[in-house]
Parts: sequence; structure tokens; C-alpha cells
Amino acid sequence: MTLNHNDFMRYSRHMLMADIGAEGQEKLAQAKVLIVGLGGLGCPVALYLAAAGVGHLSLCDGDVVELSNLQRQILYRESDCETLKVLCAERALQALNPNVQITSYAEPVTAAILAGDFDLVVDCTDNSAARHLINQHCWQHQRYFVSAAALGWEGQLVAFDFKRTRELCLNCIMDAESPEPMMNCASAGVVGPILGAMGSLQATTAIRMLLGYFAQHGEMQRYDGKAGRWLTLSARARADCSVCG
Ligand SMILES: [Zn+2]
Repeated sequence: MTLNHNDFMRYSRHMLMADIGAEGQEKLAQAKVLIVGLGGLGCPVALYLAAAGVGHLSLCDGDVVELSNLQRQILYRESDCETLKVLCAERALQALNPNVQITSYAEPVTAAILAGDFDLVVDCTDNSAARHLINQHCWQHQRYFVSAAALGWEGQLVAFDFKRTRELCLNCIMDAESPEPMMNCASAGVVGPILGAMGSLQATTAIRMLLGYFAQHGEMQRYDGKAGRWLTLSARARADCSVCG
């Protein structure tokens, strides 16, 4: 791909940066990213990656927009209610950046979708089974993997560079065998901008990985929005991990 005059205008704030520039912008244009879940995390991730010029975005979500989503899912408007999220998202993202190629899957994530051709998968789901399925496929196909979750005032993010190393995965940190946490956003609630903060961090991490600046494999970032504090936790690979052990 060769950048044209419009690209230089659109991405001028990237062009100004020595560690992105035209070369970095072309890397982003070549990248294929799958976003699983188009809720509170997936909305800012999709908006920032489309705005940044990530060339191929695949969107996966089987839900329709509901009124209770609008408190935090910033891609949607009231007139989108009862319409599939992937359709509303595709419309909004193409209006933002028509150069981005978008593929939509109006269904929950499956092994068949995850077997597609992607450089990086962003986990924006709210269920443990989907998260572990994504982890397993990213590990198997040696992809970049960025996962986040939020509840109440708190958010967390962890990313894995399976292109570089296959030691330590999400399953080492959160065992798939352990029972599903009782609480989720629908039962316990969540502060909208916490999802914005974690989603923006997922988009930043994705861009960093695609440009080749990521070195924190498996390190977890936690944000307590009520206390206004960040915490960084390191993790160790588990020898008995059913995915990477
Ligand atoms: Zn593991």
C-alpha cells in the first residue's frame, strides 16, 4: 500500500512522530484485527483502531443495541435500538474512516471465526468461556492477544505476544476450570468511562503491538477508578496449564 495525499492529512499526527511516521502507518494499514464483543470495551477499541487507520477490522457480536447499553457503548445512538450492533458499528466506523475494510460476524465468537486470518485479537467480551476460547486460538495460531474486563469502578487489562513467546497465557492467570464469577455488568453495574479507559488502553496496546513496541507479555494492569489508582501485577506461567503448559 502507498500512502496518498489524503492519508498524509488524515494521519498527520502519526506522521509527525518519529516512531510511527509513514512506515508505521503502512504497518497499521496492512494489519488485520478481530474485535470480539462490541459493548463498552469494543466501542472505543473499534473507534480508535478505525480512526488510526488499521486496514482490516473484523467485528464479532450477536446482540442488538438496547437502551441500557447507551450509558457506556459510545458507538450507538438511541435510533440504533433493536438493530444488530455489528451493523450499527460498521455504519459508524465507515462514516469515520471509509478506507478501513470491515467484516462483520453477527454471532457470538466461534472457533471457526477465530481460525481466520488475523494478526491480533482484542477480547472485549464479558464472558469467561469466550475469553478462554480466544486465548486458546491466539496461543495456537501465534497471534497478538489483548484482553480486558471491567466491573463497577474497576478495570483490568492483560496482553500476550504469542508471536514472540508461547510461555504464559491467560489460562495461567485465570483458570478456565474455575467457576464463572457470579457478578457481571448486568448484575453488578459499571461506570461507563471505566470501560472507555480500559478500551482506550486496549487500542493503545494493539497499536503498540502492531508497530512492534510491546514487551509486557502477561503483565496485568489494574485500575481502581474510585481510588484513582493503577496497579501492575506480574504473572508466572503454570506448568500444569491446560493451554500452554
Ligand atoms: Zn497458560
